[in-house]
Amino acid sequence: MRQRIAVIGAGPGGLTLARVLHRHGHPVTVLERDPSPDARPPGGTLDLHEGMGQLALEKAGLLAEFAALSRPEGQAMRILDTDGTVLRDWRPRPDEQANPEIDRGQLRDLLLGPLDVRWGKGVTEVVPGSRDGVAVHFEDGRPELFDLVVGADGAWSRTRPAVSPVTPHYTGVTAVETSLDRVDTRHPDLARLIGDGAVAVYGVNRAVVAQRNGGGHAKVYAQFRAPLDWHAGLDLADAEAVRAHLLARFDGWAAPVLDLLRHGAAFVHRPLHVLPVAHTWPHVPGVTLLGDAAHLMPPLGAGANLAMLEGAELAEAVAAGPEDLDEAVRAFEERMWARAARWAKITGAGLERLVSADPAEALALFDQVQPA
Ligand SMILES: Cc1cc2nc3c(=O)[nH]c(=O)nc-3n(C[C@H](O)[C@H](O)[C@H](O)COP(=O)(O)OP(=O)(O)OC[C@H]3O[C@@H](n4cnc5c(N)ncnc54)[C@H](O)[C@@H]3O)c2cc1C
Repeated sequence: MRQRIAVIGAGPGGLTLARVLHRHGHPVTVLERDPSPDARPPGGTLDLHEGMGQLALEKAGLLAEFAALSRPEGQAMRILDTDGTVLRDWRPRPDEQANPEIDRGQLRDLLLGPLDVRWGKGVTEVVPGSRDGVAVHFEDGRPELFDLVVGADGAWSRTRPAVSPVTPHYTGVTAVETSLDRVDTRHPDLARLIGDGAVAVYGVNRAVVAQRNGGGHAKVYAQFRAPLDWHAGLDLADAEAVRAHLLARFDGWAAPVLDLLRHGAAFVHRPLHVLPVAHTWPHVPGVTLLGDAAHLMPPLGAGANLAMLEGAELAEAVAAGPEDLDEAVRAFEERMWARAARWAKITGAGLERLVSADPAEALALFDQVQPA
């Protein structure tokens, strides 16, 4: 009999797992809290690395579709000094496919394809240990039983407590996100500043990063070191108040950089949390985690890639029909933990250097990782 597999969360990790299982003809139940795919804005753009997110899409049979949708030119990166001087202006070769960008909404739709996701199924608790299977409890409706429950439910996973007591902690760095619509026609100067990819400006313990998305949109992130309650007394829902606060915080920076904040529409507060580097847990039969639920790390281009690769690898392991499913999951976990620990170290150190007391650190990091 085929095992009953539940995937909690229809993010990049959960959907890749489900899509690869589907490709192998293995049934899977995807449970997602959002009431529909478009219930909230899908977010910005993701760069998918050749040996990670792109490899996962290959395992899902979706690499050609990705190539058609993605933006290789989005890999371009410009770095400015706070006075507006261009310090680096890196553009990819036309055939550069190392890290093309794709909008999250496009990636989600690509992965969704024929999948039958159960939307509006918010999970409250996962309870292993019964002989009949692992029980999944919902915000409404009766609990259901599965042979394997995969928590792909992100940073604040409700699956994680079934295997680990650990919760994310604040890095000391906050991001406030805003966006520009129809940037090429409404803000041509800012469109030129951002270019085809991203522009980043690093100051003392703060940064402004703007990134082009598809369809003439751009996302702008103001990042700074601050206590978690930095906004005490500030109404985060009041866009004008947040804008004024940010303009004061970045006072003295070049006018075009401040314009990125001045013209932003709404502001979203995203304090950066992480799980401890090398987060592991004693194996629990019938339950595992992947993606941010397992190894939340700073948003420096690894999280979605790891989540997708893990989803694809776990799906292949399950679809191979191992005699001992639990042994296959154990092997998956060992591999995931080792790889994620390496990336957690890299991205943790990266965040320290990008939002640091010495802005030269950010430039040095760029020179270290950027292809010539
Ligand atoms: C600003 C920013 C930029 C980033 N850029 C990149 C990048 O360029 N490249 C990259 O690789 N990574 C990037 N990341 C990181 C990346 O977004 C995450 O690592 C990735 O989304 C993790 O995927 P996931 O599937 O594990 O979880 P998520 O994307 O968080 O998806 C989890 C899903 O689970 C659902 N869910 C949550 N709780 C429940 C519940 N109780 N019941 C049911 N469903 C639930 C959620 O609604 C969601 O759909 C970025 C992150 C940020 C914040």
